[in-house]
Amino acid sequence: MQIIRNRQTLIDAITEQKKSNKTIGFVPTMGFLHEGHMTLVSHARKENNCVVMSVFVNPTQFGPNEDFDAYPRDEAHDAKFAEASGVDILFIPTVEEMYPAELATKLHVEKRVSVLDGADREGHFDGVVTVLTKLFHLVSPDNAYFGQKDAQQVAVVSGLVDDYFFPVNLRVIATVREQDGLAKSSRNVYLSDLERKEAPVIHAALTLGRNLIEAGETNESKIIQQMTAKINEQTAHEKIAYLAIYSYPEFTQVTDWTKGIIIAAAVKYSKARLIDNELINVKRR
Ligand code: AMP
Repeated sequence: MQIIRNRQTLIDAITEQKKSNKTIGFVPTMGFLHEGHMTLVSHARKENNCVVMSVFVNPTQFGPNEDFDAYPRDEAHDAKFAEASGVDILFIPTVEEMYPAELATKLHVEKRVSVLDGADREGHFDGVVTVLTKLFHLVSPDNAYFGQKDAQQVAVVSGLVDDYFFPVNLRVIATVREQDGLAKSSRNVYLSDLERKEAPVIHAALTLGRNLIEAGETNESKIIQQMTAKINEQTAHEKIAYLAIYSYPEFTQVTDWTKGIIIAAAVKYSKARLIDNELINVKRR
């Protein structure tokens, strides 16, 4: 595995691959790698000749009071984990490498961001599309791999790709979970023992919501009420940041319960804010 920190070296390495007609699979991450990331890589490995992963904690997608400084980082672990997972090129740029100058042109997401993380984390998705635009230009991947855990991100990025004709195929991979149902996340290390014990309730509540909908319940506030009660059977979390049901991928109020639906949750613990979701009536792959 080649570790690259510099933009031009990356472009040269990709050009070399493309010269021999190799297809490029790209897995963008913020590092502190876990089995969720590894699953993205294993799909990329199967579907491409060359797998590129980026590890970059992108400052522009963090708000001023968010955890950019505290976000967990461990380059040595990431390098070992990426190599063992089958990554060919690991791109680990500095902030200066990715943002060498103040941006003269800014990207702003218009649709699908007025709810959930888009509403709760102002500017977050502007930062996501900004860094992905840069990364897609550097890597020029044939396929790019994203986790369904960040379902709103998938919807936003697919808007970016469609609007600006990025010649990349987006691949969306199901959420990888711990045995007790908690979605794997780099932020799970910031849970206290009690919080870690209780956090699987997020998935349990989302599953309850799914079961109610699949059993024919269409009273949204009744479903939310039952899910809220489920989470609040536990006491360690600070608050439920949101618990909501929308049409997917539009993120508008549900009018047709037989079409794509997302139930999404964000729960705030003392040092970590965890998100998770369930998709209903959405076929993937
Ligand atoms: P992150 O490093 O958290 O920005 O995540 C990088 C990519 O991995 C994103 O596309 C995430 O959606 C995906 N990802 C993170 N956690 C999981 C998980 N538990 N299962 C599947 N994909 C995940």
